[in-house]
Amino acid sequence: MAHNSGYFSTTIPLNTAKATTPGMHDANVPVAQPTSLKRVVSGAALKELLASGTSTQSKTPSKIDNVFQNYSHSEISRDAATIKNSVVMHLTATFLRTPANMDSGDAYLASAFSVRDRLLQRWNMTNEYHDRVNAKRVYYMSLEFLIGRTFDNALLALELRNEYSKVLGDVGFCLEDIIDEERDAALGNGGLGRLAACYVDSMACSDYPGWGYGLRYKYGMFQQQIIDGYQVEAPDCWLDSPNPWEFPRPDVTYPVKFYGHLVRVPDSKHRFTWESNVVYDAMAFDVPVPGYGTNNVGNIRLWSCKTNSLFDLNKFNAGDYAGATGGQVAAQILTDVLYPNDNTNEGKELRLRQEYLFCSATLQDIIARFKKTGKPLSELPDLAAIQLNDTHPTLGIPELMRILLDDEALTWDEAWSIVTRTFAFTNHTILPEAMEKWPVPMMDKILPRHMGIIYDINLYFLQSVEEKFPGDRDLLRRISIIEESNPQQVRMAFLACVGSHKVNGVAAIHSDIIKQSIFNDFVTVQGEDKFINKTNGVSPRRWMNGCNPDMSALITEAVGDRTWINDLTKVKKLEDHVADDDFRARWSAAKQKNKQRLADYILSTTGIKISADALFDVQVQRIHEYKRQLMNIFSVIYRYHCLKQMTPAERAKEISRVVIFAGKAAAGYWVAKQVIKLINSVAEVINADAEIGDVLKVVFIPDYSVTAAEYLIPASDISQHISTAGTEASGTSNMKFVLNGGIILGTVDGANIEIGEEIGEEQIFFFGCLAHEVGDFRHYLRFHQPKPDEALQTAFDLIQNNTFGDGAIFQPLIDSVLRGGDVYLLSVDFPSYIQAHKAVEDAYRNQEEWVTKSILSVARMAKFSSDRSIQEYAEEVWNIEPVRVTN
Ligand SMILES: *Cc1c(COP(=O)(O)O)cnc(C)c1O
Repeated sequence: MAHNSGYFSTTIPLNTAKATTPGMHDANVPVAQPTSLKRVVSGAALKELLASGTSTQSKTPSKIDNVFQNYSHSEISRDAATIKNSVVMHLTATFLRTPANMDSGDAYLASAFSVRDRLLQRWNMTNEYHDRVNAKRVYYMSLEFLIGRTFDNALLALELRNEYSKVLGDVGFCLEDIIDEERDAALGNGGLGRLAACYVDSMACSDYPGWGYGLRYKYGMFQQQIIDGYQVEAPDCWLDSPNPWEFPRPDVTYPVKFYGHLVRVPDSKHRFTWESNVVYDAMAFDVPVPGYGTNNVGNIRLWSCKTNSLFDLNKFNAGDYAGATGGQVAAQILTDVLYPNDNTNEGKELRLRQEYLFCSATLQDIIARFKKTGKPLSELPDLAAIQLNDTHPTLGIPELMRILLDDEALTWDEAWSIVTRTFAFTNHTILPEAMEKWPVPMMDKILPRHMGIIYDINLYFLQSVEEKFPGDRDLLRRISIIEESNPQQVRMAFLACVGSHKVNGVAAIHSDIIKQSIFNDFVTVQGEDKFINKTNGVSPRRWMNGCNPDMSALITEAVGDRTWINDLTKVKKLEDHVADDDFRARWSAAKQKNKQRLADYILSTTGIKISADALFDVQVQRIHEYKRQLMNIFSVIYRYHCLKQMTPAERAKEISRVVIFAGKAAAGYWVAKQVIKLINSVAEVINADAEIGDVLKVVFIPDYSVTAAEYLIPASDISQHISTAGTEASGTSNMKFVLNGGIILGTVDGANIEIGEEIGEEQIFFFGCLAHEVGDFRHYLRFHQPKPDEALQTAFDLIQNNTFGDGAIFQPLIDSVLRGGDVYLLSVDFPSYIQAHKAVEDAYRNQEEWVTKSILSVARMAKFSSDRSIQEYAEEVWNIEPVRVTN
């Protein structure tokens, strides 16, 4: 992998940085380490330090700066000897090994810990600086962070990849093998969790003071095994080996209450004491997020339930060992597992407690940090913006109300004004099965104080609606945060909307749809300006520079330097090279190399041998009916049928194709799991058919993950994003594929639409009905049998004739189309889907035009960098500015 050195040494001279921001400390004033600060600095000295950071005149180093006179000069040297010493130091001192007896796992851990030392240093520098200048911070609250691996990402960000490669090479290890030792941090299901990870990456790279907040699940996303064609779930014990990328913070621990009862504070209207014996401690773990091209290191603070205090020594001494640890077990379970549902609400009591633990610890932490500034709480919105990633963290709204009313004794109006100026909310879906609702009796039992606050929020909200629209009882019923069902339910999306100053969807079409559907009444009542669009994006660091080094080297050549990695508008320059034969040849060669890399990966993970010369046709994402993997596999069956009808001479003229699937189904989602079984059954028959050979292969890659995506996405020729129109809010893998020179076959849905607008309709293959037609089709199909076209009927027939094993086990899938109302409109879209496939093939036959499409697509994709998304949020929602960390 070629990564020019020198980029960093010219743009961020770590040891010689000069402050340029007026009013900041002089560049040569040393930076103190916050944790040490706490121990060394008296309250008065701390105040003085904080004051000196904000004062415009202060140029003299404070007392504390003298204590750390040499701190800023301690940036670890970047030469090979230092790197080697630090790796050996960790090998021997951290892991009790010697260079003579280390394996590649040891080499990974020792290298990772030595890299972590550097990140830790920048982390401290960043957070001390942000504290000192009282930077406004954004807090991105998300129950999911699908981070993947960190080692390679950190090496690239620190510009030390070549150095580590050399040092490890000297002792006989290959960097690629070492990188492969790392386990994914898979604390998320799919797109929503990966978006959160891309967003904290962009905040770090764009110098925005931003933190992610989440939960440190002991078991992340389950590992998917395929046994006899079926998905089998195994626990993801990702913390079994040491995790270099987290810093335990035992000193950052907050109590979180559950259950109990309320006592009103005498003479107060809204102030209560919440008495409860069930109190768990949430402890912080910090995960550094290295910024590329900057000193800035972001942070994801993850909470874990601490159980030590719950050990019952009395019971233990009495011989009741199970009882002694019972409280610990009950508490620990709270942060044990990530719920493996994507776009489905499970509604379990444990999940509600998980969400509250997360929200309470996070809000307590944010308030504690704010209070260090000494400012009044009315100024919280000037120093903190909180973004809710979907409704999962919505309890943060009543939790902040509780803190402000009960702990801080503010009035309702004061508290509500602070809350609504601090929170903003991102909606991710309108699928009815995904809408979070909690039964009022459950909420009342577990969180009595919050239930009371939600009632009051609803009361005042409905009063304001009644004032504007007197007498409209139906409006009040529709818009109420409490749904009048039996039992009553708390509508979390409505609570999030009422408590936020901005509500956004994640692609233009989705933001329009939510204004017309779920939030239609809110637009009427609260005005249209509150509802905005922020189209998703993905990080060019991970999804281009990290996963596709050869293509990235070509882009660097076209742009002239590597600044495009933090400023994707520069990829426009690629258009200048679209007619350059040499450039085009190297572009194709990069894709071919990625395809061979994937073919090797497939051979090693599935034992299936595929040709890297075939067209790679990829659909990788969560398995869900709305994403229509079923339609894809039906079309594969039809293709197989057509090939079987041909003479060998005719078949030889066909384009060889490998259809690749990967993705997990929620453990309780039976239909989705049957789809996986069908794909594997079809693959088994087709791949064993000697007559077909390499003309058609079907592969299901088990255990889809960020790391698997990093192999898959750069290798695709065509990728499928074929959700029923109006159901995929945005999609982000569509962006990743096109950013890697792949072409999309997709519906007019989510971000596909905006991708088409940006890159031009010649570069994308659209098919299928439009979002505004879906309602009528569904209505029709509720009362009429769908009429499958000949192609779809052929696929049904082959399955029912037991071509792929016992057809009876797949009958429910066919029935979901024929008898279940065909909710996702497979029968409606199938003819145009088959036609679109033909159009793709015709285009692929003309390789010259295909390469042109590929280059032009990448050149025009700047919009889909998450840096653009984050800048829009910063300017239009959070009102924050970049803060360049300087020594
Ligand atoms: C990007 C990504 C997703 C999201 O894929 P969509 O096709 O947009 O649903 C899911 N999982 C992983 C591992 C990803 O990297």
